[in-house]
Amino acid sequence: MSAPTTARDYFQNIWDSLYTTYAGMKVTGKYLMQKPITVQYPDERLPIPDRYRGIHYLEQEKCINCLACARACPIDCIEMDAIRHGKELEWVLFTLDYQKCMFCELCVYPCPKDCIHMGTEFAFVSYDRSEFNHDLLSYRGMSREARIRKREADIKKAEKEAVKALKAAAAAEAAGNEGGEG
Ligand code: SF4
Ligand code: SF4
Repeated sequence: MSAPTTARDYFQNIWDSLYTTYAGMKVTGKYLMQKPITVQYPDERLPIPDRYRGIHYLEQEKCINCLACARACPIDCIEMDAIRHGKELEWVLFTLDYQKCMFCELCVYPCPKDCIHMGTEFAFVSYDRSEFNHDLLSYRGMSREARIRKREADIKKAEKEAVKALKAAAAAEAAGNEGGEG
């Protein structure tokens, strides 16, 4: 606003002040009655698309320790270790290092059991870098179901061996009897 030099300028300045105040308040008034759109993160979160590449999660029960995901990772983020008991697995380790991970999703596609996924969680904050080597296991050792299956398989195996031993003993006895008769 320029300093008024004439009466016309003086009234023009008054008009400009009133008009610009009105224009500004019109915008304010338009939003005054609307619901606020600010999201109060972290108490509130915007919906995340299904294909978002966030922190991984593992459906451990389905995993067969085939290493396909670890081999597909271009920067060797994934480490895993499990002891095999027949068909069952005793889990020792399954970690993913987020100090290196670039969220490329290449580890997800080759999984034959569709059990490693990129989730929608993204907040991963720590003062300790070692915590970024994230443990994806939900349990260590064998699952309860796997233990039951293993016990059943062991019982079946023991039964088969017992039957086999009995048959062998019966065959040996029959052979002995034949030898005695001859
Ligand atoms: S998202 Fe990419 S970088 Fe991260 S673990 Fe999977 S393959 Fe490796
Ligand atoms: S590719 Fe799938 S099944 Fe194989 S070790 Fe990785 S997560 Fe498990």
